[in-house]
Amino acid sequence: MKSELHPHPEIPAQTLARTTDKHPVLSAATPKERTPRLSWLHQIPQRLKLALQSLQFRQAQSAPNYEPLHLYLSPADLNPQLGTATTTPKRYATNPVNTFSKRLAQTQRMDLDSFRFMLDQLPELVSIEFFGHQHDPLETPELFEMMKYAARLNGTVTTLKTHGLLLPNRWHELLASPLDTVVINLIGHKPSIYSLISGRPLNEFMPLLNNIQALVQQRNAVHSPLKIVLRMIVDVHHVKYIPEMIQFAESLGVEGLQLDNFVKMTPTGPIKTDRTLYRDHPGFVEFLQQIQDTQVSSSRLQITLPVLLNRDMATHRYCEEAFTTISVDAQFNVSACSQQYLSADPIHKIWHSQAFNSVMYQNLRTHFSTPKSTVPLACQNCAKNMPCS
Ligand code: SF4
Repeated sequence: MKSELHPHPEIPAQTLARTTDKHPVLSAATPKERTPRLSWLHQIPQRLKLALQSLQFRQAQSAPNYEPLHLYLSPADLNPQLGTATTTPKRYATNPVNTFSKRLAQTQRMDLDSFRFMLDQLPELVSIEFFGHQHDPLETPELFEMMKYAARLNGTVTTLKTHGLLLPNRWHELLASPLDTVVINLIGHKPSIYSLISGRPLNEFMPLLNNIQALVQQRNAVHSPLKIVLRMIVDVHHVKYIPEMIQFAESLGVEGLQLDNFVKMTPTGPIKTDRTLYRDHPGFVEFLQQIQDTQVSSSRLQITLPVLLNRDMATHRYCEEAFTTISVDAQFNVSACSQQYLSADPIHKIWHSQAFNSVMYQNLRTHFSTPKSTVPLACQNCAKNMPCS
């Protein structure tokens, strides 16, 4: 790939196969000419194109000829299966492109230059979600510079998922950035639930709550359009508290509440447990429907209720991540799924021309487009693989 806008100092140009030439935004204008915070309206043609091509792919079962539209970026994480940035994994030791910048080796975080380089490989993006597996994205020093760059480049909509404990260190940067939505992982509406579900210390809850209240206050004071969403997790023991959780979120002055089903997260994907909410639990479907018809429909918040899983999801093929999305860590490692590290593939770096069409991607797409194929275990435990109800 030719990366004319931002050549990476340590990656030989001849090893890069993609090009930004065909991209109308990158070829027609410099990043400074773009306007931050563009609406989703201007992305409608890309979205229609994606829907059409996704459908075509499923019908033809062939490699798609489009670029990913959604990026999940964990800028402070390194794939544990591939070693750390300070050492070159043995299996790629002879690959000339597998050299890591000194800065990355020192900080273990993606830096702005690397981010700019990466975006050159992804010319059709409409959204970026900054998140973390082990490390919060707020640990990344140049995080907000990255958001500014993405917004200037093509108006990419950005979401930040954070545990919220580091917010006070970065108030001013956050509110001055073009970030669209911050999702804060509050877990529960009480210290006991926070600790029970997350396994983290009880005494973290009040500082976290204070951070959220202060962020709302400061956001309002500067009239920032930033949307603040709380994420809480619900298991069989706490599903009855959903009405209280909604009231609690409303009282905090945020814009949204995302309620997620309880599953155990592991490096190889989600796992169902005896605390997970299932559709066949007596009364759960009716209970959630009642909340939907009353509190959710009348609330000023945008609320998503937990997705109840089926116990047997071996034939579920609803997830579209493998067709639309690319997940990347601080070291440019690509995974075809945001919920697990999937990179046992020689072609797993963002600069490879086939990064979005590697064996890893093709295998996953085959599982989702071929009825006789076995759905991977992680996908049998994942809420993204449930049909929209
Ligand atoms: S359904 Fe499978 S591919 Fe899709 S996000 Fe979940 S684990 Fe990943």
